Amino acid sequence: MSFSIYETDKQGLTAFYDAVAGKFETYAPVEKFGKFDYRRITKIAEGNPDSPIAATMTVKPLFFPKSSPILKFQENKEETLISNNIEGDLSSGKRVILGIRHCDARGLQVLDKVYSWDFIDTDYQKKRENTILVSTRCDKAGVNCFCTSLDYDVENSDAHDVKIVNGLNGKIYIKAVTQKGEDFLKESPVSLKLAGNDSDEEMKKQYKSFESSFRLKMNYKEINEKLQNKFDSPEFETISRNCIGCNTCAFICPTCHCFKISDEKIRDTGVRYKSYDSCNNTYFTLMAGGHNPRPVKYRRWRQRAMHKFVYYKERFGVNLCVGCGHCAISCPVNISIFEVVNKVANS
Ligand code: SF4
Ligand code: SF4
Repeated sequence: MSFSIYETDKQGLTAFYDAVAGKFETYAPVEKFGKFDYRRITKIAEGNPDSPIAATMTVKPLFFPKSSPILKFQENKEETLISNNIEGDLSSGKRVILGIRHCDARGLQVLDKVYSWDFIDTDYQKKRENTILVSTRCDKAGVNCFCTSLDYDVENSDAHDVKIVNGLNGKIYIKAVTQKGEDFLKESPVSLKLAGNDSDEEMKKQYKSFESSFRLKMNYKEINEKLQNKFDSPEFETISRNCIGCNTCAFICPTCHCFKISDEKIRDTGVRYKSYDSCNNTYFTLMAGGHNPRPVKYRRWRQRAMHKFVYYKERFGVNLCVGCGHCAISCPVNISIFEVVNKVANS
């Protein structure tokens, strides 16, 4: 199905963003101490959709919070009283996210598979249904990016509802990608000018230029096939030797979704939290009886790499890595998933 394409310039785009931020509950990258994160804004001057957020941060916490209270409890001699009435309602109304990158939006599409599988996470689904994703296509790849090497069509991705493309001719294109995006642009608080017939061609030129800027490239199909026979590769031991198990790679990843449930309690009163966890955590697979099937680093790293590049694909048909490079940028000991899967596959 083909949807509307509009064209504007820098000033027009800023006016569009500003009107959106004034009309809807809007989130955009906001700078704090030199780092960007998604925050609520009411005017565009408070945020920056063109920020380098793709380098370090994911939109995942707006759908799957880092740590959130799920219930309160109070114990007395006879019973435990439970209350779901917690501050900061987990549900969410209609909202718009500006400045999300293609890889991050794809991350949500990948998460959708697991969140609508054996257990339906209604909180996550409600947030997905109520959110309009307005993505900005990157002009240049970062040094750790490899999204174009994976199993999804970055150029024609429908992981977002609207995409913004900076044409090489100086024009800025605003294209609806889904029906939700089409309806959203039709209701735009500022009038938008329909783009000329050359807009598709101009967006293709921008994509070609972006595609040619990648330093990291791999043959995904080949890597995926080779990894299927590498469960016993000694390379997992070598590559995981320096890992300090900080779990940063998982927390910053758009597709990692391990979590833990913990009770914080003082005397008889407490709160139950759902918080990020990671399969790289020593205790993640520790069982009540004391057995841990992944007691050593290489087994945990093997699980991480194989889950991302083999198992999830087998179960859900999509790769559990979108090639954003966040993990490589953030890892304190410079471990890169790109390097790991290439080394193991070719071992
Ligand atoms: S594993 Fe690394 S490169 Fe892949 S999606 Fe997660 S953070 Fe991005
Ligand atoms: S960020 Fe690096 S050191 Fe930390 S758990 Fe991940 S691979 Fe290991």
